[in-house]
Order: sequence, then structure tokens, then C-alpha cells
Amino acid sequence: MDDLRTYSLTQGIADDDPRLKIRNVGIAAHIDAGKTTLTERILFYSGRIRAMGEVHDGAATMDFMEQERERGITIASAATNTSWKGLELNLIDTPGHVDFTAEVERSMRVLDGCVCVFDAVAGVEPQSETVWRQADRYGVPRIAFINKMDRLGADFERSVESIRTRLGAKAVPVCWPIGKHDTLRGMVDFIEAKAVFYDVDDEGRHYREEEIPEEWMPKFDRLRKEMCEAVAEEDEHLLEKYLADEEIGAEELRHAIRMATIAGHMVPVIGGSALANVGVQRLLDAVGHYLPAPVDLPAMPCEDVYTGEAMEPIECKRNAPLAALAFKTVADPNGDLTFLRVYRGTLKKGDQIWNATNAKKERVGRLYVMHAGDRETVDEVTAGGIAAVIGLKNTQTGNTLCESRDKAFLLEHISFPEPVMSLSIEPESRGDREKLGEALSRLAIEDPTFQRHTDDETDQTVISGMGELHLEVLVTRLRDEFKVACEVGAPRVAYRQSLKKETRIEARHIKQSGGSGQYAVAHITFTPKDDPELVFEDSIKGGSIPKEYIPAVEKGLRDEAARGGQIRYPFVGLSWSLTDGKAHDVDSSEMAFREAGRLAFRMAIESAGVRMLEPVMAFTVTCPADNLGDVLGSLSSRRGRIAEMEDLAGDAKIVTGQIPLSETFGYVTDLRSMTQGRGTFVMEPSQYLPMPEEKALKVAKEAEERLLAKT
Ligand code: GDP
Repeated sequence: MDDLRTYSLTQGIADDDPRLKIRNVGIAAHIDAGKTTLTERILFYSGRIRAMGEVHDGAATMDFMEQERERGITIASAATNTSWKGLELNLIDTPGHVDFTAEVERSMRVLDGCVCVFDAVAGVEPQSETVWRQADRYGVPRIAFINKMDRLGADFERSVESIRTRLGAKAVPVCWPIGKHDTLRGMVDFIEAKAVFYDVDDEGRHYREEEIPEEWMPKFDRLRKEMCEAVAEEDEHLLEKYLADEEIGAEELRHAIRMATIAGHMVPVIGGSALANVGVQRLLDAVGHYLPAPVDLPAMPCEDVYTGEAMEPIECKRNAPLAALAFKTVADPNGDLTFLRVYRGTLKKGDQIWNATNAKKERVGRLYVMHAGDRETVDEVTAGGIAAVIGLKNTQTGNTLCESRDKAFLLEHISFPEPVMSLSIEPESRGDREKLGEALSRLAIEDPTFQRHTDDETDQTVISGMGELHLEVLVTRLRDEFKVACEVGAPRVAYRQSLKKETRIEARHIKQSGGSGQYAVAHITFTPKDDPELVFEDSIKGGSIPKEYIPAVEKGLRDEAARGGQIRYPFVGLSWSLTDGKAHDVDSSEMAFREAGRLAFRMAIESAGVRMLEPVMAFTVTCPADNLGDVLGSLSSRRGRIAEMEDLAGDAKIVTGQIPLSETFGYVTDLRSMTQGRGTFVMEPSQYLPMPEEKALKVAKEAEERLLAKT
């Protein structure tokens, strides 16, 4: 197999520069479009796996579960490396569900281009629209693969048209299938002006390039002209040639399509069938021809660790200080695997590096490149590449890794939002309780956005996450992957509380009747504030409380804040100032002062009154322009606040704003029916805000009833 020719779009980079050979691509598709089958075919044709397993066979065999599991490891690992005609291809897993923009952003950020898979029978479906809009938002260059051309009812032309009208993209077919359903035989390559026939009996491994069949020629002439016109619109030089009716060569076309695709002006389209083994190799060629190499993209923004000020962006250079981003951590029996994208410099086995996000030293223990099922030990991974590392102790998804402390910067500003929903988990047996503990620690390593705690009083395990679906996914993994038998409660919004106003408390915890007594007096001022932190300040002058008891007062306050008063929603956004107090030579103790802290908190609740806070989500809705009025109405009736409205390509609108989490339940269903299935809704936690009084009362009442039922 000849190597693909690569071109440099960047000044000063030679066409044979090794950085031009890397493609970091994601395969994006909604469920069932054929992402798994296509990924498997790619790994098979590029020689990474020896046999093709069929998804539909799997379901029929006894060892279905086992096979699924193995497939899962092979296919859905965070990143898989393979090679194709001299290209180094990193296939990066994109999250299966797109409801959590933080996860999506991270995976979109480490990939440079995307293959979007569509079903040739259905064309653009509402769910493929969601996936597409995500890629739009992150400006990811794309190729479209119209899959399942072997199905009854497959229609390439209509599918291409639906990409144009529904997604507003300039879809330009470069490989057109020959035949469809059971007559599907191959494709016409418009660039090379050749027909390609796939050898179906040989699992599509071999293909023949031939002259275009006679009966196809009239269609070819017409369609190729259309393609040339579309490409020429993007390139002045080609436009002149086109208008002068001159022949445009394959190289020129490729170059212009590459430029336009990377600029986001065009989407090359290929039709075929992963299952019937038609067109996958041509798709791989197209990945090389049209999707960007890391050097083709703008430099990565980065910022000062301390001030947050923008620093000089990171360029894809090999001989320069290291810049890498951790985008996934996978728990592994041999040590947790951290996946890194190296943006600059070279990462070497044994290197001491610096985690700039956590300000911690790290050592690169073992360094791997992952291939389908197995991993290859390597000595180094350079700029543009993807590495898997064992040995990083303090690195989580989203962390920036640099060469050293004095060369530190952050690649992205990350603040993980506080989890906004929680549910309780009740293991069924003692064995399950142990398994649950282990499983939750494993999950916490992989997913920094989920939290767990045990409620002291009810002895229940409570997990919290970013939304209903997030919790659902976690519970499914606990049951299926970790085999924990458990009962789970209904997901609940994680409300918070604060105080209504400032208050000064004098708490006296005094018990001196008989035996060893307890004596502690603490004067504390409680002040509510906007940010969620709890801050304790020791303002005592003259030692009215001995130094050793002061941390105990703070502990008592913090315990009570976490306990969350009568309705068990934790307190946030308070500062405490300990101004005065009294101690007793014999009867004072740490315990007594902790109790005084707790008492002070309870008194403050009585005196100042509570203010309920609710999680508010930042949302993005896309919908057809025709439905905009209804959509805005529905959002405002759910207490949504609109921040911005913009036009999207293809007669669609995008609306962003904030909406209380409790008002979002069932919204996706409403939106779908309002927009004939075309509207999309994504959200992520933004902040906690005070809620209207009558809603607050309702929440408090429900919480009381629930707690009463439990005791
Ligand atoms: P995913 O959910 O996107 O990963 O999709 P899968 O690869 O699991 O495919 C979903 C279903 O579509 C499976 O039953 C596949 O066998 C089937 N499928 C995938 N590609 C094709 C294709 O090209 N033609 C046909 N007819 N079926 C396909």
C-alpha cells in the first residue's frame, strides 16, 4: 500500500514533516448508526485486529456478555492507535451521551477532526443533529459517512440533502455509492474519477479500481461538475479554472477540499456500508486527505496558573517545554491509566513532570500507546500524539501537565461544578456493601464530577452527580460492571441552605452538675456571602478562649453545616468570626467547645432564618426558527432566563441561558414534541441561587416528610 501524500497548510512546515502524519479523530454518531461496527472495520482493515465480530452475531451467542465486555474494552477505550498508509491514527472515544457538556468539551478538545456517521435510510435524525451541534460549537472539522447503504430504503442523495437542509452544512459528496440495498457494489471516487469495487467474499479486504461503468458516466459527469463548482467556490484559483472550463486535477481538488474542510466551510461526504464492507478504506483515505493534522490547527490557548492571564498559546512543537492534557483516567488492575494528549514537547518514560493544576510533582512510570486490545510500551510520545501513562498519582481528567514548576501554565480553566443531584444506595448484603465501597472508589478515579458520602445518622450511602442521567449511568455501572446488588432511591435535587442575614450568637455549652463537667462559651458572628465557601476566622483578642480549643469550635460549626439542619440540606456561603468566649480551668475541653460551635449554629438558624438555594443550570437549546416562539415561552414558564439568541446554519436557532434544575425535569420530552423531535437541550451546573419563598417552603416540607417516614 502506498503512503498517502500529506500537505502542509502551514507556512514553514515541509510536506514530509512527521507531525503532518498524525490524525486525532473522533467517530461521532448517535446510537445505532453504526459507530461500533465502523470502528471495528477500521481496526480490521488497518491490521489492528485479526477478526471481525459482528454486533448482531454477538446477540445470538451464549457468551454475549463476555463478548460485549471484550468489545467494550477493544472499541470504547479512551483512545486507540492504528496506522493507515503511513498515517498515525488515534481514534478517540466520544462520550455516548451528550448531556454533560464538560465531558463532551474535554473529548472534543483532544480530537482534531471528526467522522460523523449517518444512517442512509433515516438521513439526519434528531439525535444526529445533537451530535453535530456539539461539533459545531467546538469548531471541529468533519467528514460525513453515510452508512448502511446496503439497507432496504437507503438513499444517498436524500441523506446528503438532509445534511444540507437540516444541518445547514455545505455537504459535498466525494465518493458516491454504486448501487444500493442488495445491488451495492462499490463507489465512484469523484476525485480520482475511478470506480472502486469491493470484494465482498473477502470481507472487503481487497478492492479493485476500474474505469467508471459506461451506464454511470452521464451521472458522473453531472455530479462531478457539481462537486467542482462547490469546491471552486472556496478557492479563487480553482474558480478561475472552473469558469474557463479547464480540467481540475485530483491534487488540486484535494488541496482545496482540505483547506475548506479544516476552515469549517465544507463537509466531504462518503457513502458506504460498514457492515457490508463497502467504502471503509476510502473513508480512511479521506481522513488523511481532509482532516487536519495537529500542526494545521491554531495554537492552544493557555493561561497563567496564578493570575489566569492569557499566556502565549501552545504551538505543536517537539523541541519545546512539555504541555499535555489528561483527558481520561481508567482504573486498571496494574495501576490506573491516564490518557494524555501531548500538545507540545516530548513526554518520556521516567520523566519527572509537573501537574500544574494540582501543583504536584509526577513521575511517568510506564508509557504506552494503546492498540485495540493490547498496549505497546514506548519510550516517548511527542507533540500531537496521544499517550497512556501508568504511575501518575495525583492527576485527574482535565489536569495540565508541564515540564516543571517554573515552566507551569494551565491549558484550560477548570472548575468542576458542585454535583446537583443525589440518590441513596442500599446494598443488599454485607458482601455487597464491601463491593460497593470498592466500586465507588474506582468510579471516583475515573470521574471527577461525582461525589459520595455516608449519612452518619441513616448510615446510607449517597452519591451525587451532575444530573439524572449521570446518576443513572453510574448506577448501571455499579450493577453491571461491578456486580453490586443494591436498591437505589429516587434521584433528588441537591438543594443547599444559607442564612438570611447576619447574626451574632453567644453560645453557652455548660453542664456542671455532678461528675466531670463541660464548659464552653463562644461568641460568633455569622455573615452570609455570595460565594459558596465556608470561612472561619479567629478574631479573639486577649486569649479569652485558649488557642487549643479554637479548632474545635470550627469543627463544630463545619459539622453542623454539613449536617444541614432539620431538613438535611448542607449549608454554604457563610463566614464565621469567633470574637470572644470563656473557658473553665477544669471543665473545658475540646469536646465542650465543639458542642458550643454546634449549638451556636443551631441558634443562628433560629435567629437569622434560612435561605434555600437551588442549583441553576446553564443551558443551550437548539431548535428550528419556526418553533422559536414556543420554545422561549416554554423556557420562561419554567423560570428560565434567556441570555443570548443566535442564528445557526440551516435555519436553526440557538438559545442559551440559565434555568433552575428542578424545572428541567421532563423538558427534553416537551421540547421534542414542540419541535417534531428536532430541538436539542444540553445543560451543565452553573451556580446556586436563592429560590422563591413558596418553592422553598414546599421543598422544606417535602424533606421533613421524607425524613419523618424514615424514622
Ligand atoms: P452504534 O450504536 O453506533 O455503535 O452502532 P453499531 O455498530 O452497534 O450498529 C448498530 C446496528 O446496525 C447493528 O445491528 C449493526 O449490525 C448494524 N449496522 C452497522 N452498520 C451497518 C451497515 O452498514 N449496514 C447495515 N445493514 N447494518 C449496519
